Amino acid sequence: MANSGRRPAAAAKNAIPKELARPSREDAEKAVHTLLRWAGDDPAREGLIDTPARVASAFDEWFSGYKDDPEVYLSRTFEEVEGYDEIIVLRDIRFESYCEHHLAPIIGRVHVGYLPNKKVVGISKLARVVDVYSKRLQVQEKLTAQIANCIQQVLEPKGVAVVIEATHQCMTTRGVHKTGVTLVTSSMLGAFRKDPMTRREFLTIIGNPASSVES
Ligand SMILES: [Zn+2]
Repeated sequence: MANSGRRPAAAAKNAIPKELARPSREDAEKAVHTLLRWAGDDPAREGLIDTPARVASAFDEWFSGYKDDPEVYLSRTFEEVEGYDEIIVLRDIRFESYCEHHLAPIIGRVHVGYLPNKKVVGISKLARVVDVYSKRLQVQEKLTAQIANCIQQVLEPKGVAVVIEATHQCMTTRGVHKTGVTLVTSSMLGAFRKDPMTRREFLTIIGNPASSVES
């Protein structure tokens, strides 16, 4: 697919509907004020007086991924790689995200691999793509697919593999209160899906976090 055909579609997909236009900062701070009362505390006491403003600023940071286009980071590629055509893996990319059901942190590691088709990207760019998608409200399955699909569409490699291992604080601090559990998700595209040898090589490189990934 040509670049020109893809960009408008991607932009439309990420556009926020008009009726959901961003509220004012004042409205956001008021909402935090309400939540503090809902928690059972007094927003007027000294320790909480600046909390609504701090939380609004923290939201700007935690959800900065809405302002960023991950495809931009992959648009600059290199072709002078002396014919290198083996798997490229960036493993143990730490990420912090927030579950879209409870706003609770999801913290873990992402492993990204791809099999280049002449073009490669600077390795930090793969980490940037992870950052943009993780700094949005997420479910881990969606995060995994978004990272893989973005790299596949923009870089057009022979295949992409993404494995995410993470803990969900909505599960460890509330609800079932299960600590020490890790959710592992994977997305295998192209050669990583079709060729068991390629998939196995990737899983060996990342230290095979879960045998269940290898199906
Ligand atoms: Zn949750």
